[in-house]
Formats: sequence, C-alpha cells, structure tokens
Amino acid sequence: MTHQTDTITLPHGRPGTTRRLTIHRFGTQGARPKAYIQAGLHAGELPGLVVARHLLERLTALDAEGRIKGEVVLVPMANPIGLDQVLLGGHVGRFDLATGVNFNRAFADLADAVSVRLRPGDLGPDASANGRFIQAALANAAQALQPRTEADALRKLLLSHAVDADIVLDLHCDSEAVMHLYTTPACWPLGVADLASRLEAKAVFLADVSGGEPFDEVCSTPWDTLRARHGGPETPVPVGCSAVTVELRGEGDVDDTLAAADAAALIDHLAWRGIIDMPAPLVPDTSDLATPLAGVDRVRAPVAGVALYHVALGDMVTAGRHVATVLDPFTGDRHACHAVSDGIIWSRTQNRYAGPGDILLCVAGREVLVTSGPLLTA
Ligand SMILES: [Zn+2]
Repeated sequence: MTHQTDTITLPHGRPGTTRRLTIHRFGTQGARPKAYIQAGLHAGELPGLVVARHLLERLTALDAEGRIKGEVVLVPMANPIGLDQVLLGGHVGRFDLATGVNFNRAFADLADAVSVRLRPGDLGPDASANGRFIQAALANAAQALQPRTEADALRKLLLSHAVDADIVLDLHCDSEAVMHLYTTPACWPLGVADLASRLEAKAVFLADVSGGEPFDEVCSTPWDTLRARHGGPETPVPVGCSAVTVELRGEGDVDDTLAAADAAALIDHLAWRGIIDMPAPLVPDTSDLATPLAGVDRVRAPVAGVALYHVALGDMVTAGRHVATVLDPFTGDRHACHAVSDGIIWSRTQNRYAGPGDILLCVAGREVLVTSGPLLTA
C-alpha cells in the first residue's frame, strides 16, 4: 500500500480560524508518469466533489492490488476557503469574497522564473531529460512563491503539487452544460482526445492563452514559453504537462451513478497513460472534436428580461437560428436572439433573469469570432 494522506493548514488565516487542505498520494513519490487531479477549485461545483470521492475509492482499491505504476496526487476538495463562503443564504464558491477574484484566476505563471535561471548546458539533445529538468525547475519556482493572503497561499499549495506533473486534470462544471473540456493546441494531440472520448465529451475548446492565468494554463503554457525561448533542434523542449479543465456538465448534474461512470472513465484514461497497470478499453477516435475557444458563439441578451430558450443542450444549430427570446414582462416586448455560428449548444445559463449583455447560451463554432481580449468569462 502506497496511499499517503497529508493534511495541510493554510497560512495567513484570521485569528482563531483554520482551513485545511487534504492531499492524497498514490504510488512511489517521484515515479513517472505523474498525474495530478483536483476537484472543487470553484467550491460550489459539486459534480467534481462526487467524482473525486469515487476516484479516491477506486485508487485505494487499485493501490491495494499494487497497480499504481506512476504517481497520482488527488486533491478532492481543492478550495476550503470557497467551501466556507455563504452569503445571504446562498453559497458563493467561484469568487473569493474578500477580494472579488475568481478562485480559478491569478495563478503564478512560472515560465519567467524558470527561464532566467536556465544556464547554457542545462538542456541537451534528450527531450525527456530536458522535460525532467524543467519539471524540477518549475517545482522549485513554485516553492519560492511568497503569498501574502490565505487565497494566494492556497494557489501556491495547489500549484506546487501540480506543476511538475505530466498530466493535470482540474475538475469543474458549468451552469447548465454537456460534458466539455478546455486545453491548449499543444496538449490536444498528445492524449487529450483519448480523455474526451472516454468521458463522452461533446465539445473541446482550444486556446494557446485564454487570459487571467487559470490553473490548467499555468501548468501547461510555461512549456510553450520555454520552448519558444530555449527550445531548438539541439535542445528539444517537450509538451511536458498535459493540463485539461474537465467540465463535468452543469451544476445540477450531481448524480452518484453519473459520477461513478466519470471516475471510471478517468481511471481508464490513467491506465491508457501508463500510470495504472490495468487494460484500458478501446474507445472511438474523437480527434475532430476540438474547436477554437475563440470560436465560441456567446449569445447574449440584448436587453434585460426573462430568458426563454428555444434550444436544448446538445442541439445542433445553424447560423441565424432563433435560439432564445428575452421577454420584457413589463411591456410584453420580445427580443429575438440568434446564433451566428453553426455548432452544438454546449451551455446555457441557469438563471433565466437576464441582465443586458448577459450570456444566455453558447454555440461551439469552428470559425474564430474573438480576436482580442480574454476568452474566458468571469
Ligand atoms: Zn469552475
């Protein structure tokens, strides 16, 4: 049995209070490949918490059979600060109430910290050796961060355990949505299609940089930066970390059977990656599923009112389709909202009381629509 549990108290808390993070490790520390999986960074997104519980049980059983070949680090409840935030009877798990900052933004991009410390001769002709060297450098850079707040201490702690992993899976969910993933164009062809297929994802969104430093991108994109600055034929820099945000459908999709199936899909993917010693069933090829994040057609309310949807999650629409109406219940005016792209309806906003400019629903278009500014919503 290799399972170890660490419980860490966050520094910088208020007097008389403590918040703790529990981290589970399976396999020999330092064994490769290493996978890091966390759930509940947005603390109110409950599907991931249930999936993580199933993962913990599956990994414990696999460990007892001696099947963990690499290393798996699992953080089943990644945000004890957010779990504790209730305001006027409602839970607030997405934003830090102290600062208004989204818990999945403002992570440290460690590319510069590693880049300035690289010396001639640190990298050589062996891509794999370069990858291990950079992973160690990233881990050291994460350790050197000096957070001043409890929320930043949490960010440092999560990043420190993830940034040297070969695979990072950050479990989230949307408002109302089908299963979908976010990753980078560099990561996508290196195994993320397998994950998408096992999870039966209906959409995958690719962006080199989506803006705001979300967790998955500070694990994956430093490799792109370091490759651009230091990589070359004599010093190849691999895609050292395949990081993916997994959106486990919508906030209301909290279901034990669904969660067990999702956990089984993740375990099969870890087996396919060579981290767990067990056969992984063959799955269909989904390599044509990915679309640009900049191609997402976000259909917005032109005015405030009650949103009436005319399409369901998973529907395929074509450009020009009347997908929603915003009703002004005071005047009776109805404002039609149309898709501008062809594609699948992959998310809808649960709250039907729309403000002007609010996103109502999203279409996974293939043509780029956004050419500047951040690609993620608040
Ligand atoms: Zn989230």
